[in-house]
Amino acid sequence: MRLLRSTDLALRVLMRLAVAGGSTPTTREVAEDMDVPYTHAAKVVADLTHRGLLTARRGRGGGLSLTEQGRTASVGALVRAYEGDGDVVDCEGATPCPLHTGCRLRGALRRAQEAFFAALDPVTVADVVSDPTGPLLLGLPTASRTPSADPPGERRP
Ligand code: SF4
Repeated sequence: MRLLRSTDLALRVLMRLAVAGGSTPTTREVAEDMDVPYTHAAKVVADLTHRGLLTARRGRGGGLSLTEQGRTASVGALVRAYEGDGDVVDCEGATPCPLHTGCRLRGALRRAQEAFFAALDPVTVADVVSDPTGPLLLGLPTASRTPSADPPGERRP
């Protein structure tokens, strides 16, 4: 099962912010760290903010920070939310599979999908930034910058 790019990016943004400590990186800094276009990062940041998993403050000294809800968020719940719970195979699309009315494979795939999510349910964002991931995150290009290091006139977040 391959995750959507937006799912993976949402998790990476949360992981980056989970090691931010007292700093409040901008969306542009997070995009740079994750090596993704700013527009993709901004879309994900807006969605995560809407879900209450991070806060975004504008203006000088502002930036992004993880909420407690974001720190303790279940990776499984996030993946479900982004991926949806549709079948992993399209049995009844524009050209329905001739077996769709009585297929054992379909049930097996559904159970496998549930097992995939269930394995991720007890894992939190905080869990996935423990060693060795945390030090790697702190080594990303902008991770050691402080808000005061922003160029004059930089708009946050
Ligand atoms: S073989 Fe089964 S799982 Fe595959 S498309 Fe057909 S109905 Fe769906």
